[in-house]
Amino acid sequence: MSQQTTIRKLAELVNTPVDKLLEQLAEAGMKFSDPDQAITSVEKLKLHNFLRRAHGKTASVAEEPAAPGKITLSRTRKQEITVTGGAKGSRSASTVEVVTRKKITLRTGAKGGDGATKVDPALDPERAEALRKLEESRARNLAEQQALVERDRQRAEELAEIQRLEREAAERAAAEAAAAALDADTGAGREDAGKSKHHGHAKPAPATPRAGDKAGPAKGKAHRGSHAMVSGVEDDDSTARFAGKLHLSAGDRARRTSVRTKGRLQKRGPDPSRTGTGFNKPTAPVVREVAIGEAITVADLAQKLALKGGDVVKMLFKMGVMATITQTIDHDTAVLVTEELGHKAVAAVADDAESELLARVGGDQRELAPRPPVVTIMGHVDHGKTSLLDYIRRTKVATGEAGGITQHIGAYHVETDKGTISFLDTPGHAAFTQMRQRGARLTDLVVLVVAADDGVMPQTIEAIHHAKAGNVPLIVAINKIDKSDADPSRVKNDLLAHEIVAEEFGGDVQMVELSAKTGLGVDDLLDAIILQSEVLDLKAAPEGRASGVVIESALDKGRGPVATVLVQQGRLSKGDYLVCGIQYGRVRALFDETGRQVADAGPSIPVQVLGLSGVPDAGDDFVVVADERLAKDVAQQRESRRRELRLVASAGNRMEDIMAQMGDGAAQQTLNLVVKADVHGTMQALREALEGLSNDQIRINVIGSGVGGITESDAQLAVTSKATVIGFNVRADASARKVIEANGVDLRYFSIIYDVIDQVKQVASNVLGKEVREEIIGTAEVRDVFRSSKFGAVAGCMVTEGVVKKSKPIRVLRDNTVIFEGELESLRRFKDAVDEVRVNTECGIGVKAYNDVQPGDVIECFERVEVQRTL
Ligand code: GDP
Repeated sequence: MSQQTTIRKLAELVNTPVDKLLEQLAEAGMKFSDPDQAITSVEKLKLHNFLRRAHGKTASVAEEPAAPGKITLSRTRKQEITVTGGAKGSRSASTVEVVTRKKITLRTGAKGGDGATKVDPALDPERAEALRKLEESRARNLAEQQALVERDRQRAEELAEIQRLEREAAERAAAEAAAAALDADTGAGREDAGKSKHHGHAKPAPATPRAGDKAGPAKGKAHRGSHAMVSGVEDDDSTARFAGKLHLSAGDRARRTSVRTKGRLQKRGPDPSRTGTGFNKPTAPVVREVAIGEAITVADLAQKLALKGGDVVKMLFKMGVMATITQTIDHDTAVLVTEELGHKAVAAVADDAESELLARVGGDQRELAPRPPVVTIMGHVDHGKTSLLDYIRRTKVATGEAGGITQHIGAYHVETDKGTISFLDTPGHAAFTQMRQRGARLTDLVVLVVAADDGVMPQTIEAIHHAKAGNVPLIVAINKIDKSDADPSRVKNDLLAHEIVAEEFGGDVQMVELSAKTGLGVDDLLDAIILQSEVLDLKAAPEGRASGVVIESALDKGRGPVATVLVQQGRLSKGDYLVCGIQYGRVRALFDETGRQVADAGPSIPVQVLGLSGVPDAGDDFVVVADERLAKDVAQQRESRRRELRLVASAGNRMEDIMAQMGDGAAQQTLNLVVKADVHGTMQALREALEGLSNDQIRINVIGSGVGGITESDAQLAVTSKATVIGFNVRADASARKVIEANGVDLRYFSIIYDVIDQVKQVASNVLGKEVREEIIGTAEVRDVFRSSKFGAVAGCMVTEGVVKKSKPIRVLRDNTVIFEGELESLRRFKDAVDEVRVNTECGIGVKAYNDVQPGDVIECFERVEVQRTL
C-alpha cells in the first residue's frame, strides 16, 4: 500500500484541479504548501472528513480499487485488505492489481481510449486479462461494501431490539415495584425493592403471575450459561448466586438477554455459544464508543478508551503526532487515534442534551409580564457609588422589623411607589465586565455616578465605554451636589464630548442631580430608573421553571455553598432542582437581602440559594430542571465541555479567532479596537484615523479609547468584545497583563502613528481575506497532432503569446470555447523535455488525461494568483 499519498494524487482521485482543491482545503482551514508532499495520517483524516463534508466525493473514492488505502480511514482499509487478501490469498495480490490498473490507464490512454475502452482479447490478451481482473476486484469491493451496510443494518435492528427489551423490563420493574409497595406487609418485598433500586432495573417478583409463567428454572439456567461465556470467565460465585435465584422475572431475563446479545455484538466474531467453552476469550476487543468534543487531552481520551495514556501517546506517535499525556489534541486527531485504536468516535452529545433542555425552559409558551429593572452603578473612584448604594439600601430596603439589618449578598431590591428596582451592589467595572465576559446580560441599565465637584474622570469614560459596548442605557447621577464647589453643568458639558447628551441639550440621557450624603435627589433617581425601564419595556415570565444568573457565591462554613442568584425568568422555589454552572442541587432554602427566608423569588429578584453541590462562579447561569438526575447529568456534561472550551481557548490565538470569525460572513465585518495613548491629542487623532479606515466591507470600531496606561478594565473590555488593544507610548499594568495573557488578547504597542494605521490596515485586509485571480501567461496553437505509444496524443504547437510552462494548468480551446481543463503531461522542444517554452517557438505538448486534441485548437496556459484584498 503506497504511503506517499499527496494532495496531487487526491486531486486526481476526486477529479478536481490541484489548485482548486488546495483552495478549498485552505478555506476549510487546511493549508498545504506543497501538493506533492506526502500527507500524514492525521492530515488524511482531516482530508477524509473534508471530502465527506465538502466534496461529497469520498464514496466514489472508496469505490476505486486503487484509492481506499490512500484516503479512507484505516479501519475501512483494514476491512478491505482482509477481504481482498482473503479472496486472493495474500495482501500483495491487491497491490499488484493496483499497479496493473495504473499501467492500463496509461496504455489505453496512449491509444486514444479513455480507460474504459473494451479491449479485444484476441488483440491484446494481457490487457484484456488485466481489465477483467480489475472488473472483478471492483465487483468484490462493491459486494463487500454492501455486506458492510447490511451488517450495520442488522446490528441496528438488534440494538433496537435490545433497547425495546430494556424499556419493557424497566416498565415492568416499575409496575412490580408499585405492586410491592402495595403489598408492604412482607419484609422480603422491601428488600427486593431495595435491590431493584440498586440495579436500576427489574427485580425478582414471584408474586407477578406474568413473570412466573415464563421464568422457569430451566430457562434461568440456560441464560446463566450464556452469561458466563460472555464474560469469558466461569464465575463460581455468580453461578451460585444465580443458582439460588430460580425465579427470574421477565425483566431479569430481558436484561440478561440484552447483555448476552450485546456481548455477541461487541465480539463481532462467530457466535461463542457455538465455539465452545466458557474459557474462550473474545476474539476481538470491545469497541467503545467515545464522545469527543472540540478538543481533549491525551489523558482524558485514554481514560475514555480505558487505555493507558502511554498507549495513546504511542499510537499518536505512529501517526506522526508528537504529544504528551497532558497535551491537548484537536477533535479530528482524537477521532483518528480513536478509530486507529479500533474504537468508535461519536459526536459529543453534551451540547444537544443541554440545548434541548434549555430550549425547553426558554421555549415554554409562558405569559410574559413586566419585570423590575436590574441596575448596576458605575463611575470613577470616590465619586460616591458605595455611598449611593448604601443610602438606597439603608432607606429603601424593607427590613421588616425595626432595627433589622440588611446583608450584603451581592444585590438587593427596593420597592418604590412607582415600582420595584433591583441593584447589583458590587459597584465598579470589573463586576460588570466579568459578567458580560461570561455572556450573562444581567444589567438593564447603568447609573453612572459623576461627582459634581470632580467632573468627568478616566474611569467615568471607561464606564461609558463599557455601557456602550454592552449596549446598556445610561442614567447619569451627578453626585455630591451638597458640596459648595459642585458644578453640575460642567459635568453635563464634559459628558457631551463622550456622546452622552442630557435631555436638556436635546439628547436622550436622563441626568439627576443628587447627594448620596443627604439623600437629596435620590428619589428622583429612582423615578428616572423606573421611567427608563418603562421605556425599555422589560418583560419576563413570572411563573414556571426559573432560570437566571449567579451574582455572587461563597463557601459558608456552616451552610455550605451559598450562591446569590438573580432570577431572570420564571419563579425559583424551595425544593426546586437546579443546574448552576457546573454545579447542581436542590434548593434547600432561599434568603432575601435582609436575611429572611423566602419561599420563592420571581424575575429580577436576587435571592440567596442554599443546597448546591459546590460553589458556582459569578456569572454562571442557572436553570431549574425536572429532577436531580437530569440536573447532575447536565452539570457533568457542562463540566467536561467547559474543560474542552478552556483547552481550545488556551490553544487558540486571539487575532486568528477574530479573523476566522470574520472571515466568511458576507455582511460587513467589524474589527474592534481598544486604543490607549499617552496624550489626548494623539488618542483623538488615532481614533479618527482608524475609524476612517472603515468601508463597506469592514467597520473599524474603536470601542474604547483613553489617555494613560492599559488597565485591567481595558483588558476586560477587549476580552468581552474580542478587541485588539493598541497601546501608543503606553504600557499595560500588571493586572491588565494578567488578563491579557489569560485570555490571549491581541495587544500591540506602537510609537509611530503611521505604524498603527499600517498594521490595522493589514489586520483589516486579512479580515477581508484573499482573492484568487487567474492570469493567462501564454497561448499555443495546435498545428499538428502525433500519436505516440509512449506519450499518447502529442500536440505539435507554436507558442503564439507569452510563455507555456510545464508546471502550470492549461485549458484547451476550440473555437474560443473551453473544451478541457487540466495539466500538461509533457512539454518538449524537439526531443528534450523542457520546463517552459517562450513565444514564437515550436513545441510538443502532451495533455494529461486528454487525447482528443486537434489541429487548430488553442492551448492556453494560466496561473492562479492569490491577491490579498486590501482597503
Ligand atoms: P466610591 O469609591 O465611588 O464608592 O465612593 P464612596 O461612596 O466611597 O465615596 C467617596 C467619598 O465621597 C466618601 O468619603 C463619601 O462620604 C463621599 N461622598 C459620597 N457621596 C457624597 C455626597 O453626596 N456628598 C458629599 N459631600 N460626600 C459624598
